[in-house]
Amino acid sequence: LEDGGPGTLPTNPNFAVDTPVENGTFIIATDTTFAPFEYQEGGELVGIDIDLLRAIAANQGFEVQIQPLGFDAALQAVQSGQADGVIAGMGITDERREVFDFSDPYFDSGIQMAVAVDSDIASYADLAGKTVAVKTGTTGAAFAEELAAEHGFSVNAFADSADMVNDVATGNSAAAFEDSPVLQFGIASGNVPLKTVTDPEPNAQYGFAVLKGQNAELL
Ligand code: GLN
Repeated sequence: LEDGGPGTLPTNPNFAVDTPVENGTFIIATDTTFAPFEYQEGGELVGIDIDLLRAIAANQGFEVQIQPLGFDAALQAVQSGQADGVIAGMGITDERREVFDFSDPYFDSGIQMAVAVDSDIASYADLAGKTVAVKTGTTGAAFAEELAAEHGFSVNAFADSADMVNDVATGNSAAAFEDSPVLQFGIASGNVPLKTVTDPEPNAQYGFAVLKGQNAELL
């Protein structure tokens, strides 16, 4: 910390707001259902993001209070100052860089389309006149919205992946767009009763995020 001495402010303004909320505890917001990155198992929040965050906190000597708020709510919590950071399989995008600062990327992801196991839908063109389920505020939602006009489908947004998947499984929506590792893990573990029908479209790499210009040391 480049401090000019007693009574002066640190020269880097980021350090001025870099105080953990309470006794060295950072509040970190995350998604609710995004296995294998964050999910509930036996009443516990587990997953790759949770392991990563806890390992870094232990290594660096700070405490975390993890709040599974849902993806869009987690981003909003950081923006409103109710949380210090977010780890939620969050893609590093140019648009988000206007609002957040990101860690180095830790995972390369992609987006895939999934349909009900007995569905005949196999391409974007097959979605004409149908409804597609997405999760609010995600890169998957943005991807679907970009394709919607061209292929003539409408988009229905849900707050979490479980509700999105359920809407497709029950036949209400014709397809969902979701991160490929999450779909593939869910299908392989028997928790997502869907099948993927497109190759993963390369999408944003995941990073840990804080509000732009804040919490530089946490970042
Ligand atoms: N990777 C996607 C995004 O950044 C989805 C993240 C999520 O649903 N937790 O928008």
